[in-house]
Amino acid sequence: MNNRVRNENESASRADTSSPSRRDVLLRLALFPAAAAFGLACKSGPDCTDTSALTGPEITQRQSLGYVDKAADATKACKLCSLYQAKGPEECGGCTLMKGPISPEGGCTSFAPKT
Ligand code: SF4
Repeated sequence: MNNRVRNENESASRADTSSPSRRDVLLRLALFPAAAAFGLACKSGPDCTDTSALTGPEITQRQSLGYVDKAADATKACKLCSLYQAKGPEECGGCTLMKGPISPEGGCTSFAPKT
């Protein structure tokens, strides 16, 4: 194999692995808004994870009660709990047991079904 052919082969193999092609970049840029919209559509409930306004003990209590922003069991979501203080379907509510924002889709170990 002569040097010119070897150099072309080496250049081609480097181009395949070193960086994405312009076509790949443009395709990814075109798909990004669609992927972002799909992600938002798949998310259910508001994000109620901001505990920056809470004190250390309030955060600890929240953690010790096992609060999660999305209940593992949808039949035990906060919106179905008698201790939930609703504000709206897409807003964070509250809870009589703990401070801070509570998602209607959230949950904890103290779930008490509405009667
Ligand atoms: S007690 Fe638990 S399940 Fe019930 S509203 Fe509060 S955080 Fe949600």
